[in-house]
Amino acid sequence: VAKKEHNTSKVYTASMNDVTKREQLLESSMLQALELGQFMLYYQPKVEVATGRIYGAEALIRWSHPELGMVSPLDFIPIAEKTGFIIPLGEWVLFTACQQMKEWERMGLPQLSVSVNMSMIQFQQKQIVHTIERILTEAGIRPEQLELEITESIFMDNAEHTLTILHELKQLGVKLSLDDFGTGYSSLSYLQNIPLHTLKLDKSFINGIVDDFKKQMIFKSVIVIAHNLNLNVVTEGVETQEELEIICGHQCDAIQGYIYSPPVPAERFAQLFIEHNKN
Ligand code: C2E
Ligand code: CA
Ligand code: CA
Ligand code: CA
Repeated sequence: VAKKEHNTSKVYTASMNDVTKREQLLESSMLQALELGQFMLYYQPKVEVATGRIYGAEALIRWSHPELGMVSPLDFIPIAEKTGFIIPLGEWVLFTACQQMKEWERMGLPQLSVSVNMSMIQFQQKQIVHTIERILTEAGIRPEQLELEITESIFMDNAEHTLTILHELKQLGVKLSLDDFGTGYSSLSYLQNIPLHTLKLDKSFINGIVDDFKKQMIFKSVIVIAHNLNLNVVTEGVETQEELEIICGHQCDAIQGYIYSPPVPAERFAQLFIEHNKN
């Protein structure tokens, strides 16, 4: 037994080292990666249930690393948050998404609603509202076209300050959506206090929903609550036709998921938009 335990701990140590090495590599090459243009945004269509039309996209960051290949944001966003690099990176994301909206407009696409994920660190910045206002002006898009996705984590640090910022953003005309609703400690109390436009139901809401009556009732009830509060409801992570049918039966407003499309590069998104919205 002793030998076995010894081996296990050895394996554990070795894999920890690999993880640490990878993290160190990511951390040390991040700044340069931004300068070298290794980050890019992919866009996942947001589809309106009532019409079946694409009305916008969520921007999701990707890092094409020369040695590691495509790195997931789940791997590098936490590092960027820890080092503070998320501030310039977050600004890059906002600016790139806004520029892209303008580019699609130039191509003749209608004005789209693009969502950008925000880190709690970005809200600790006093000038965040000013930064966003400047980016909107520079890109030349209407504030209503930009939707900021936030999670409850932004309230962990100085909730009062955060709430003030959110109200200023609303004043500016930017839309706010609460992301990952239904995970972690998300509670209905957030719905009372934040000036929200959209509630995004996490994929865990619909995982297994097809065979689970209780899950369907929870899903249905949350949508009723959200609608009574005048919120738009988006269901995330819809993958199958069966899931889609249940979701459509409960008056959810919009859907994102592999059933329509995974996140794709901007050029591909424009093609999808044109093909999908043809009739
Ligand atoms: P999220 O904001 O909840 O984004 C949804 C994630 O679900 C995306 O993963 C998306 O590719 C994936 N997804 C979409 N449809 C489906 C589906 O039908 N099935 C499954 N299994 N997955 C689906 P992704 O792109 O890897 O992003 C992961 C997370 O990284 C995001 O979760 C978000 O929290 C964070 N993130 C991504 N881009 C940014 C960014 O620009 N800034 C910040 N701060 N965070 C970002
Ligand atoms: Ca999101
Ligand atoms: Ca989400
Ligand atoms: Ca998330």
